[in-house]
Amino acid sequence: MSLIKTIPELEAWLDTMGRHGRTLGFVPTMGCLHAGHLSLIKAARAQNDLVVASVFVNPTQFAPGEDYENYPRDIGRDYALAREAGADAVFNPRAAEIYIPGASTAVEVTGEITKKLCGASRPTHFKGVTTVVNILFNLIRPDRAYFGQKDAQQALIVKKMVRDLHMPVEVVVCPIVREADGLAMSSRNVYLSPEERRQAVCLNEALGKAEEYAASGAASSTSAARLTEIMESHINSRSLAVIDYVRVLDSETLADIAAIAPGQKALAAVAVKFGKTRLVDNRVLPVGRR
Ligand code: AMP
Repeated sequence: MSLIKTIPELEAWLDTMGRHGRTLGFVPTMGCLHAGHLSLIKAARAQNDLVVASVFVNPTQFAPGEDYENYPRDIGRDYALAREAGADAVFNPRAAEIYIPGASTAVEVTGEITKKLCGASRPTHFKGVTTVVNILFNLIRPDRAYFGQKDAQQALIVKKMVRDLHMPVEVVVCPIVREADGLAMSSRNVYLSPEERRQAVCLNEALGKAEEYAASGAASSTSAARLTEIMESHINSRSLAVIDYVRVLDSETLADIAAIAPGQKALAAVAVKFGKTRLVDNRVLPVGRR
């Protein structure tokens, strides 16, 4: 397994590995790897001949005042975990290697899909994500790229970009991996105080309550407003939780919906702050409908 720091090293590695006729799966991450990331690497391992994971804290997806500088970094640990999960190489470039001096090109998906949810709270975030994903795709040229449903909006936006730009890569979205108490795994969970960590399970609990109500058959069980209210009231019952958003939207387009129509899938999505730490989670409703 190789730790690759520069683009020339990456190119040499791709040449040596002989790409002809071999499929390559790519897992982009910002590091501080946990079982959620490792599930993507394992999925890539199962479906491809070669697996590359990247560990790159991408400056362009952070706004001033966010946690770019303090984002947890430990490449030694990440390297060992990625190797254990089956990666053949970890690409860990410096920011100046990815963004060459004078670079002024960005890739941006426009429209509703990038304006809502995290796009409303973090208006420059997704442009940074799609730009870096493009650069990494151009450098690594994967056949398949693996993203987590944990960041459902990001996965939808990347899929849309790939479709809109006819990019020759298959986007694979993997299920959310959770802690034993249901909290979605996230590199940012390490920021939580013990009491915040205890209360943070309310995101998953709120989604569970929405799931239960959507399956209840009650007259308003498909109402987006009612489902939103159920989730909000649960989260607000936790003293340290401050809601950023709680929404029920069409699961593909993120368009507003009044109710979940027969045959339709909705995305129940929540973002909640505990102190400075912002957590996200989601559920596709009704559960079981694909
Ligand atoms: P990040 O390092 O936070 O940028 O995440 C890298 C990739 O891992 C993204 O595609 C995330 O959606 C995915 N990911 C993060 N947390 C989880 C999780 N708990 N379960 C599954 N995938 C995850």
